[in-house]
Amino acid sequence: MRILDQLIVLTLPFAPKALVKKFAWRYVAGETLEEMLETVRRLNAQGAMATVDVLGEFIHAPQEAHQAAALYKTVLEAIARERLDANISVKLSQMGLLLDKTLCYEIMHDLVATAAKARIFVRIDMEDSACTGDTIALYLKLRKQFDNVGIVLQAYLRRTVGDARQIMKDLSKINSIANFRLCKGIYREPRTLAWPNHTLINKNYTLILEEMFKQQAYVGIATHNEELVWEALRLIDQYRLKPHEYEFQMLLGVDPELRQILLNAGHRVRVYVPFGQDWFAYCTRRLKENPSIAGHLLKNLW
Ligand SMILES: Cc1cc2nc3c(=O)[nH]c(=O)nc-3n(C[C@H](O)[C@H](O)[C@H](O)COP(=O)(O)OP(=O)(O)OC[C@H]3O[C@@H](n4cnc5c(N)ncnc54)[C@H](O)[C@@H]3O)c2cc1C
Repeated sequence: MRILDQLIVLTLPFAPKALVKKFAWRYVAGETLEEMLETVRRLNAQGAMATVDVLGEFIHAPQEAHQAAALYKTVLEAIARERLDANISVKLSQMGLLLDKTLCYEIMHDLVATAAKARIFVRIDMEDSACTGDTIALYLKLRKQFDNVGIVLQAYLRRTVGDARQIMKDLSKINSIANFRLCKGIYREPRTLAWPNHTLINKNYTLILEEMFKQQAYVGIATHNEELVWEALRLIDQYRLKPHEYEFQMLLGVDPELRQILLNAGHRVRVYVPFGQDWFAYCTRRLKENPSIAGHLLKNLW
């Protein structure tokens, strides 16, 4: 089955979009704002929170960054209008980080300020290692002016434990606490930068999570891995955290049963809800990360 899964992943870019769409709609809320809102309403009704991602990553011209920010503002308006339990997740490359850092900062400053007025939180997603340092620097600059902004750190990077400590130290100087999402990391990174296997990545995840809890940071525990969920629950118990002092986070369409188990046990769970025209690239990436789910494509199609 593994070879077949790999084959699907390799041939996917050449498959008819309409065919892929049948499978993709498990992981993506749709192409339109209304489709995304429908998904968030449904999740809220089930007791889960949401974080909305307008699909799209690297852009080629400043105009595209402004367009992406405008779309996010439409999302903010809709969340506020409908009083949904949702926030937004933003990729800095989509806001021009790799074109012009000043432009990216200005766009993000405006977006976070707009979100602050609506009392909505902005999560800065973490991209590949070429973006890590600049993303952290921009986050800290924004965090010193706004409370409603947080960052993602990736447990697979060797640097992350140091980054987490430094961020918490910097923010403690202004009497602020950090708001992290901790995930494993999705990009392909060289061994020089990233821990090379799942055992080490899981150990590092637990180590970093404990550092964060020790310093009273707020953490979005982003994982579907039950071993990590177990470690997180152990630490939540050890540090006597109350449900509003952390949250679990999961991707739309991935292991809804685990999501329900956590909700039933009284934990808060936020679901990552991607939507937009760029769904094809997003789904291809999800499949590349985890070719074993490619088998579902066949089951769904035939
Ligand atoms: C809310 C959220 C936000 C994220 N944000 C970022 C980010 O900003 N930057 C970043 O680099 N990474 C991000 N990620 C991805 C993350 O880094 C991991 O690549 C991903 O979550 C898989 O790791 P895992 O901890 O779930 O454990 P794994 O051990 O990889 O997965 C556990 C099980 O979950 C299921 N599963 C996991 N991933 C998928 C998938 N994609 N499709 C179908 N089934 C799957 C499989 O059944 C698998 O066996 C995010 C993940 C989540 C949940």
